[in-house]
Amino acid sequence: MKKRVELLAPAGNFEKLEMAFHYGADAVFLGGKEFSLRAGGHNFDRDELVEAVKYAHQRDKKVWVALNIIPHNDEMDALPEYVRFLEQTAGVDGVIVADLGVLEIVKENSKLHISASTQASNTNWRSVKMWQEMGASRVVLAREVSLENIKEIRSKVPDIEIEVFIHGAMCMSVSGRCLLSNYMIGRDANRGDCAQSCRWKYNVMEENNSGQKEPIYSQDEPTHIFNSKDLCTIEFIDKIIDAGVDSLKIEGRMKGIYYVATTVKVYREAINRYYSGNFTYDRKWLEELETMSHRKYTTGFYFNKPDSESQNYNNRNSYSQSHKLVAKVAEKISDNEYILEVRNKIFAGEELEVASNKGEPIIIILPDMRMTKKGITGIVYEANPNSMVRVKVDADMNRLDMIRRVLKK
Ligand code: SF4
Repeated sequence: MKKRVELLAPAGNFEKLEMAFHYGADAVFLGGKEFSLRAGGHNFDRDELVEAVKYAHQRDKKVWVALNIIPHNDEMDALPEYVRFLEQTAGVDGVIVADLGVLEIVKENSKLHISASTQASNTNWRSVKMWQEMGASRVVLAREVSLENIKEIRSKVPDIEIEVFIHGAMCMSVSGRCLLSNYMIGRDANRGDCAQSCRWKYNVMEENNSGQKEPIYSQDEPTHIFNSKDLCTIEFIDKIIDAGVDSLKIEGRMKGIYYVATTVKVYREAINRYYSGNFTYDRKWLEELETMSHRKYTTGFYFNKPDSESQNYNNRNSYSQSHKLVAKVAEKISDNEYILEVRNKIFAGEELEVASNKGEPIIIILPDMRMTKKGITGIVYEANPNSMVRVKVDADMNRLDMIRRVLKK
């Protein structure tokens, strides 16, 4: 029997890793402080990497480490020792590489499982086969492939693991091969430091044959011509699994805990339903994915090449969300007493929803709170971000549950 597909989540730091596993991920991908994209993210230092792998393996989960920068000569010398550290000390499950030199160094210094990064822009079976011949056990396909492309790659290269993106931001350029941010602001997308210049507002001028310039407007204002919608595949996730992939990847190492937990929970439920043999799409999944901040959703390249409908031309309604994370349950002290870690200001008496890793959200009325900080005693009626409060709530909540405010119905 074919192995169940892996649900792979982003982990920008230890808290996100913990949330990803708690909400149902089989594996996470993360970056070390060395040789990884996402320079601005909270990547893991060596001690944190060791801790992360230990935590994952105790729960039978996997950790894939990104080694996917495109390095220059002076960066290669330190790589062999780092690869040996990843295999022998940290014990990671595999590495993700984009560069052939890095691939060779990984092979020379370890027996680590190697994934060819999406940065390598694999869009056809010959390229996938070539990566396999060079030593990769898995290829992360570029986002620019269709379901039909995936099926053909699967049939022509049957014994390689295939990983595809199922949710998250899209680049308007092929798998991040883009110099916009580097050129405009000196921040290198291929070092994980993209300033998202494609989301900015542009005044575009068209010059006609006689040299006259005409502005191009979108809805009477400058346009966001490069600003792609976000990928969302929940409505056809069964078709992606049917195409024969091995791993379903959620994009977003820079995103917050609410994003990680919510996407993982929704796709986990859908995948479980697929393997129950009775897959039917549940509209609630999409509603749940709409609770978090997102650009409008698109099906990306899965069915057709994106057309004008795949772009957000108007930034005024580029992002939307129906809910906002206000607190996380940090500790369950007794059946009805909890410590909450506050993320956005909360007020006693307000109605909030509690979302956990299983089932429907429940509604609570936030009671008066007590600060847990030393020196502050007595009851408080509101609490600010980064504070910890103690509350008594007659509801069954658990550690890592997320408490959220409804912004609109
Ligand atoms: S500027 Fe936009 S298209 Fe270019 S790498 Fe960044 S996110 Fe991708």
